[in-house]
This record gives sequence, C-alpha cells and structure tokens, in this order.
Amino acid sequence: MKKHNFSAGPCILPQDVFQKASEAILNFNNLDLSLIEISHRSKDFIAVMEQAQQLALEHLGLEGKGYKILFLQGGASMQFINVPFNLMKNKAGYLNTGTWASKAIKEAKFVGEVVELASSKDSNFNYIPKGYDVPTDLDYIHFTTNNTIFGTQVKEFPEANCPLVCDMSSDIFSRQMDFSKFDIIYAGAQKNMGPAGATLVAVKESVLGKTDRAIPSMLDYRVHAEKDSMFNTPPVFAVYVSMLTLQWLKDLGGVAAIEKKNQAKAELLYNEIDRNPLFKGFAVKEDRSSMNATFNLVDQAHKDSFDALAKEAGLNGINGHRSVGGYRASLYNALPIESVQALVDAMQELERKA
Ligand SMILES: *Cc1c(COP(=O)(O)O)cnc(C)c1O
Repeated sequence: MKKHNFSAGPCILPQDVFQKASEAILNFNNLDLSLIEISHRSKDFIAVMEQAQQLALEHLGLEGKGYKILFLQGGASMQFINVPFNLMKNKAGYLNTGTWASKAIKEAKFVGEVVELASSKDSNFNYIPKGYDVPTDLDYIHFTTNNTIFGTQVKEFPEANCPLVCDMSSDIFSRQMDFSKFDIIYAGAQKNMGPAGATLVAVKESVLGKTDRAIPSMLDYRVHAEKDSMFNTPPVFAVYVSMLTLQWLKDLGGVAAIEKKNQAKAELLYNEIDRNPLFKGFAVKEDRSSMNATFNLVDQAHKDSFDALAKEAGLNGINGHRSVGGYRASLYNALPIESVQALVDAMQELERKA
C-alpha cells in the first residue's frame, strides 16, 4: 500500500497524475513515441506548454491582465537572482521570514541595495513580522508567502507604491488570493504543482525593461516571454506533469475547492497538536501555515516511541528540517485528509501508550 507522504518537496502529487505521466513516458498521445523523445517544437508538445500556461493563468485569475506565464529552469533559487536583474535599479525591500527569504536577500545583494523591511530571525522565524514601515523609494518589495521550513504563512501584505514580488513555491494554488496584487509570482514546481525541474513565473509584462541594465538572455524575463518559454529547451517532462496536475486541480473545482480541503486538513492536525498534551506547535498560531505544520514533542523521551508508531502507520517525510527540529507535516494539495487522520491517530496512540 502507498505510504502517507508528508514530504516537504519534492512531494506528493495526485495518483492519477503519476499514472498518466508514466503512460506518456511510454507512448504519448498515441504517437508511438515517448513524451521525452519528441521535439519541444512539435505541435503535440507546444499544445502541452500552451495548456499549462493557460491553466496557470486561470487558477491565478490573471487572464487578460497583462501577465505572461513562463516555465523556466534553475528552480525558485534561480529567481532569487533573476528578479533583481530584471527589476532592480537601486534598491529593493525584502521581508525576512526564513531560510528561503534570507537566500533571496543574499542573491539580490549581488545586484543592488537591499533594505530588510523586517525580520523574525530573533525568534528562529516562528512568526511573520507585521506593522513595519515601507520606504517609498523602493524598486520592488519581495515576500516569501509560505515559509516551508518554519511553517509560517504571510496572510496580509502591506500597501506599497512599487511592484510586489512573491516567492510562492510552497503555497501556490493552495488558497485564494488576489494574485493581481503581485507583479511577479514565482514557484519551484516541486512543492504543489509538479516534479522538480520546472519553475513557474507569472510576470506582469509592464514592469519589465525599466532598469537600463543589459541582461544576459537566460536571465531576461522578456526573452523567455517573447519566446513563450521556448528560448531554450524547456523541461518537457516537468512541464507536462505540471499541466496534468493543474488539470486535476481544475477538474476538482479549482483553487476555491482545494482551499476548503486544505483548511480542513490543517484544522484537523493543528487541533490535535493543540489538544494533545504530548505535543506543541512551533509557529505562533495566527501565522501558522496551512501547507507545512511544524510541531515537536514536549518531552523528547517519547521520540523513539512516536517514531516507531509513525513508521508502523506508514507515515513518510514527517521529520522536521534541521533548523527547527521536531516534526513537519506538509499538507500539499494532493495529500488526502485520510493521511492527516493517520498522523493524528498515531499522535493519539502515543498519548494512550505514554
Ligand atoms: C523549496 C523552496 C525554494 C527552493 O526551490 P528550488 O526550486 O529548490 O530552488 C525556494 N523558496 C521556497 C519558499 C521553497 O519552499
């Protein structure tokens, strides 16, 4: 039987998507050829790319609003440098909410000045800073919506008079938002959309081309937009599987429908973390992530028993990141609520035994 997969990334995808993807590896569209041996410029693959872009636009509610959807390589980490190359004239503001935000800041400093708007480093990033001042002379502001490692999520964004950029790697397509507030949204595929190897960038074309900087082609969003993500060979398999996952999401009712399921999963787990005297949550309650729940045992003496119970129940990928310790359950779109129930059952079993 398949394990309950709480892996933080790469992560669970719908079983139906795995099935279709494996069929396409052997024989794609009855061409008697594999998806991964045909030209990316064939009409069959161009249709995949166009559909993936269209589905992403639809799910984000960005159709007809001047955005281009790009599928690039190099991961979200590559966008840490692409964003400042494309947008920074002098300085940009960054909210420092964790490891990924800190890495984005480090890369932006290669290009210009970074103003750290606020940071929650003082308490190991277990909360989202609020009520900070936003200078009015910034070229853009950068957020990380969901802090995959620490289990916090940004729920409100400040008013600003400059473009907003967001790393949504670990919560894109998981909850409804007014995505048109953001001028650039990027996400590595492997957290909620597909396999590793593709990175989605939604970019409002009107913000590009304002820096007077010569940008190397592979870093230039305008080049990728003009060539419809075919400036070089795109990661065909990752784009195909992302397309299947976005289609799966549409078939089950889109972001509004998955948000309800995600809320139910998060509530089930957080209620148990708060109720069970053997466990405690890591992130402060109001900033808790609906995608990555971080928690720990109150008493480490129970660790071996709980780990054994988790193993017996077929729970995979619940160990916390080394910078937080304890446990992290990732509740991405494709994770069924039955898996969360299996985790809750193991937590209750520990309580009975202890
Ligand atoms: C995983 C992750 C990244 C890194 O993504 P790569 O595709 O491995 O570069 C960046 N930001 C966030 C929020 C992540 O969760």
